[in-house]
Amino acid sequence: MANQPNILLIYTGGTIGMIKDYETNALKAFNFEKLLDRIPELRQLNCSIDTHSFEEPIDSSNMNTDYYVTIAEVIEEKYSEFDGFVILTGSDTMSYTSSALSFMLEDLAKPIIFTGSQLPIGHLRTDAKENLITSIEIACSRKNNLPIITEVCLYFEYKLYRANRTTKINTERFEAFASMNYPPLVESGVHLDFNFDLLHQPKEYDQKLIVRKSLISDVIILKLFPGITEKAIKAILDIPDLKGVVLETYGSGNAPTYPWFVKLLEKSIQNGTHIVNVTQCVGGSIIFGHYETSIELKRIGVIDGKDITTESAIAKLMYLLGEDIPKKEFKNLYEKPLRGELDF
Ligand code: ASP
Repeated sequence: MANQPNILLIYTGGTIGMIKDYETNALKAFNFEKLLDRIPELRQLNCSIDTHSFEEPIDSSNMNTDYYVTIAEVIEEKYSEFDGFVILTGSDTMSYTSSALSFMLEDLAKPIIFTGSQLPIGHLRTDAKENLITSIEIACSRKNNLPIITEVCLYFEYKLYRANRTTKINTERFEAFASMNYPPLVESGVHLDFNFDLLHQPKEYDQKLIVRKSLISDVIILKLFPGITEKAIKAILDIPDLKGVVLETYGSGNAPTYPWFVKLLEKSIQNGTHIVNVTQCVGGSIIFGHYETSIELKRIGVIDGKDITTESAIAKLMYLLGEDIPKKEFKNLYEKPLRGELDF
């Protein structure tokens, strides 16, 4: 590691990178090459910053698995050159993207921090500067000359979270994200307060990064609601080539006990589709068998998503489906934490 950490800032798009053109009043993309001129405060950080911008920045509603791979490839190519990476994306799908990257980047030993903002960087009351400056500061933080953060995280409004534990919960407030089932890794106040016991520890700091790029998109999120019809569930499970379903159930993993419902799911599992049970609640966990209404799901082989978020569950499905795991082992592997995304 060089004396001064070297951070690569990757801009993919989103509100954070916008400034107001005061002549036309319109928001336009910010030129990240001129970052240090625009935000001179960054010069006070004890690090050097390089930037890489998507040629055509996207609104994060247009995020897809090809862009996931593009981000992963930038990190792969620059991994040995930089000590940490800060990735700017729109907040709308940031939990999905950062969860996916947490699975794609295996044996990580450097910080990867996603951030964005609710207001553009050029706005008078912007939250962008704090989010950006603190993300870079955390990415630079070292202990005994080693990086403190060695996992994929998301920073927003004074808190650094494990990315694959987050959900966007608010369109309005600066505190746009929550991590209900895992406490923040760092809280930013007068000092940066690291919760050292919660952090991922790499096996070795000089281990080789493995980048997993074969994601399978033949998956779907199916949210139950009282009154959902047989024809709707059947149509979804009959989607050609469907390989995985994240089934959002009620409370601690409960679903209707109607025979038609259980039979449709059972048939789909027998045909090779992996179905994961996650809760619709923002916090808490699946407890299979706690109520009669989840016993049938367990019996037919539904995967226990435990306390995983929906965003992380769909990312984990895409990732594991791409890894060609034998059918017998898939459920077992899915139910284990691979990147700290669920409690064992
Ligand atoms: N629509 C924007 C996006 O997700 C909102 C944001 O940047 O936070 O790209």
